[in-house]
Amino acid sequence: MTEKENMSGDCELTKRISLSQFDSQSTDWNDKEEKDEAKSKIDELSEVFRSVITLVGEDPDREGLRATPLRAAKAFCYFTKGYEETVAGVVANGVFSEDHDEMVLVRDIDLYSLCEHHLVPFYGKVSVGYLPLGKIIGLSKIARIVEMYSRRFQVQERLTKQIANAIIEAVQPRGVGVVVEAVHMCMTMRGVSKPSSKTVTSSMLGVFRDDPKTREEFLALTGHTN
Ligand SMILES: [Zn+2]
Repeated sequence: MTEKENMSGDCELTKRISLSQFDSQSTDWNDKEEKDEAKSKIDELSEVFRSVITLVGEDPDREGLRATPLRAAKAFCYFTKGYEETVAGVVANGVFSEDHDEMVLVRDIDLYSLCEHHLVPFYGKVSVGYLPLGKIIGLSKIARIVEMYSRRFQVQERLTKQIANAIIEAVQPRGVGVVVEAVHMCMTMRGVSKPSSKTVTSSMLGVFRDDPKTREEFLALTGHTN
């Protein structure tokens, strides 16, 4: 693991620990509780990963594996950091009044998630489109919403719907369309081993569901027409 990966592998809880170490005001009970909670979560996960290493027949004390339980615990924490976030928190002050009534589309947002049946990654691209009704959302916030839901245990079908519902919650638009195209490693590196198979899911709400022309425009712009 490179230094950069290692740093970005730290989860919110560990970030909070390191931040609070530099914060002289952080002596109240809440901070201390959060800090203890984060530390015990990482410690417990490390123990679990140590057991995993032992159970597969490896020696967790050999040099190359000695720090692995801690690294894996931090990585796992990062992969599931979306549980600590909410739509309101992620969108925050990123909604603006705007008289724009044409389709807004963000295409090919990178997606990395864990399939909840195998805890194995699935990854791909997400396209999100919506038709505003007096309000728009900051474009980076759309990517943040995708990130929040993908950093949880997921099935692609639910993830797709959650992203669409979050856009509705944030800006109450005339409609939303979401298309997710992903490779599931539980399909490609185990089981049926179909390395080139992709799973495509979509969620269409409001005019994207009711008006075929809007839906077609969205699918054409995302490159999902035949
Ligand atoms: Zn799976």
